[in-house]
Amino acid sequence: MDLGAEAQRALAGTRNLALWLDDPTAPPHRPALEADLEVDLAVVGGGLTGLWTAFRALEDAPGRKVALLEGGRLTHAASGRNGGFVEASLTHGLANGAAHFPDEIHVLERLGLENLAGLASSVAAEGIECDLEAHATLSCATAPWQLEGLVEEANLARAHGHDVELLDGPQVRALVDSRTYLGALRTVGRSYLVNPARLAWGLAASIERRGGQVFESSSVTKLGEERGRLRLTTSRGVVGAERVVLATSAFRPLIGGVRSRVLPVWDYVLATEPLSFERLASIGWAGREGISDAGNRFHYYRLTADGRLVFGGFDAVYHYGNGIREELAERPATFALLAEHCLATFPQLQGVRFTHAWGGAIDTCSRFCAFFRTGFGGRVASAAGFTGLGLGASRFAAGTLLDLVDNRASAATELDLVRRQPIAFPPEPLRSAVGQLTRWSLARADEHDGRRNLWLKTLDAAGLGFDS
Ligand SMILES: Cc1cc2nc3c(=O)[nH]c(=O)nc-3n(C[C@H](O)[C@H](O)[C@H](O)COP(=O)(O)OP(=O)(O)OC[C@H]3O[C@@H](n4cnc5c(N)ncnc54)[C@H](O)[C@@H]3O)c2cc1C
Repeated sequence: MDLGAEAQRALAGTRNLALWLDDPTAPPHRPALEADLEVDLAVVGGGLTGLWTAFRALEDAPGRKVALLEGGRLTHAASGRNGGFVEASLTHGLANGAAHFPDEIHVLERLGLENLAGLASSVAAEGIECDLEAHATLSCATAPWQLEGLVEEANLARAHGHDVELLDGPQVRALVDSRTYLGALRTVGRSYLVNPARLAWGLAASIERRGGQVFESSSVTKLGEERGRLRLTTSRGVVGAERVVLATSAFRPLIGGVRSRVLPVWDYVLATEPLSFERLASIGWAGREGISDAGNRFHYYRLTADGRLVFGGFDAVYHYGNGIREELAERPATFALLAEHCLATFPQLQGVRFTHAWGGAIDTCSRFCAFFRTGFGGRVASAAGFTGLGLGASRFAAGTLLDLVDNRASAATELDLVRRQPIAFPPEPLRSAVGQLTRWSLARADEHDGRRNLWLKTLDAAGLGFDS
């Protein structure tokens, strides 16, 4: 097969829109804030971090006056554009968590599992139809040097009580037939797959059922304080609030100390048409595992409830000056690369059509997991920096943000994860240069048996990184 030509053919007619947002069951546009409003808690940002915060605030204290302000449409940013892998890890994986928080990783692991169970039970209790399904995950080696890494990963995972199994090439190919697989680490019981936009819309409906208010097209342009009340300014109304939670991810933040620590890194995804029974049968995949490969630049892929393949990752791109403009969501060269990689992984898909291709901004921070900041005497709290693994962690962050603004000591507020800040990225133009050098070095490491150059070794030694 001529991969380049086949990829171009498969991409013809693709919509530049996230599959999850192209949904006839999407709720109608909610109104913008049109008049001044007084509340107990205002939440800024209608992604999953903001939605979980408003939901959990009302769950814990029914009757609390809560308003959520979203600048665009609910879940139109990362929360509606991701791969839909909901993981237990709060730390972008166990190895990253153990490296950054060795003294409390056992607590983080426990809290992560509790959070995952809490997420599933809220979805069930609220009757949110978001195709939440428990699945095993496969981390697949596609180059010999990656096999050693999987063994190390397995040893660490077992030491922390994870249910893992190392598979050799024939064993993994018996589950999912890709000739690229040389081995895999299979993990059970720590992950779900979800339709993330439906989760977000379901949470918004639950918030409103509990008396909360949700506004779209209500961008907060200023956060200030007047006579002891916090004031959030939008173009048509001002919200006065006792407490404020900021869940603005990679967008321009409303308090200090966040912008220097977050890089918007663009990540891209494709979705195929629903696969025919024969096509799917030719791959196997009866367990519908969530899959990633084990390179520095990795792909992640999964099946949807209606039998499509969603395939993303690999080409993480940073744009000068924390670029986060909508036109960056369209990147034909990356779509072509992803399509080629997808067809190389599964040549059985020759002839398939990609129906959707999209990009989204990931709020990358140098330690790869969310950090928390407070302002205005502790009455404002912010969480950002999930670095591409925020679907599960956003619910944990929501609970923690509420502990912080309500000045409530909890297992979470004692954590270094919550108290410590990641190292900031340098300002431009160095920021871009560092991003480019790191990206180039990671690609080179993948091409040279995983060997890390001096730059990557320096970053490793300093506990710093650049990822999606
Ligand atoms: C391509 C891609 C793939 C990903 N894959 C996965 C995955 O498989 N698994 C996983 O766990 N995570 C994944 N993630 C990350 C995950 O989607 C997020 O971490 C998670 O959804 C939490 O998002 P959030 O609510 O913090 O941010 P967002 O969803 O980005 O929401 C932030 C919201 O704040 C709003 N906002 C910003 N400023 C203002 C303002 N001043 N006023 C009003 N509103 C404002 C924005 O409009 C936006 O809607 C992926 C992300 C991307 C982009």
